[in-house]
Amino acid sequence: MIGVLALQGDFAAHGRMLDRLGIDWMLVKTPSQLARVDGLIIPGGESTTLLKLMKQDGFIEALPAFHAEGGVLFGTCAGLIVLAKDVLNPAQFSFGLIDLAVERNAYGRQRESFESEGTAFLNGKATPLPMVFIRAPRILELRPGVTLLARYDQEPVMAQQGRVLVASFHPELTDDPRVHQYFVEMVATERQAISIDSPVNNPVT
Ligand code: GLN
Repeated sequence: MIGVLALQGDFAAHGRMLDRLGIDWMLVKTPSQLARVDGLIIPGGESTTLLKLMKQDGFIEALPAFHAEGGVLFGTCAGLIVLAKDVLNPAQFSFGLIDLAVERNAYGRQRESFESEGTAFLNGKATPLPMVFIRAPRILELRPGVTLLARYDQEPVMAQQGRVLVASFHPELTDDPRVHQYFVEMVATERQAISIDSPVNNPVT
């Protein structure tokens, strides 16, 4: 089961993409609902507003706990900003669950919002990927342990570290479901790992 954080932003578009893939998903509005999902999408929107609502609703403690217990996370745009280790322009609180630095609203005024094509490396092979950028953050530095998954104009725009996937663009606003498919596979892999480790499946005799 995939959850889509529905406090603010374009969560509905993520739901439509998951519907297209035939995946079970639910809106997540309270921390207690995290217990029912294996993966959580944090949508784009406005990161300062999102953080304010997350704080009010108790996600500041609940989200790191969800991740520590094996939950898989996918942040797009503002979702990337809140998951990053370091945030600039201006500096603000973030969860630090992926070791990269990000600069908010980094694309110039003329290019505030645009649709274009970048290159993804989703299954080891470089392939063109449509990308929608809306007042997008720029990933400044990928640190060791973070895998580059897509580039636009020579710059990193999608990355993964363990159970955390981030994109500075909006794959949910394109017609291409491959990024969501990739996230769903991350969740499935994690679930498998949990069930192999689980004492129920490995009874000690
Ligand atoms: N500019 C927004 C921020 O800094 C992010 C924009 C988006 O999510 N589309 O939070």
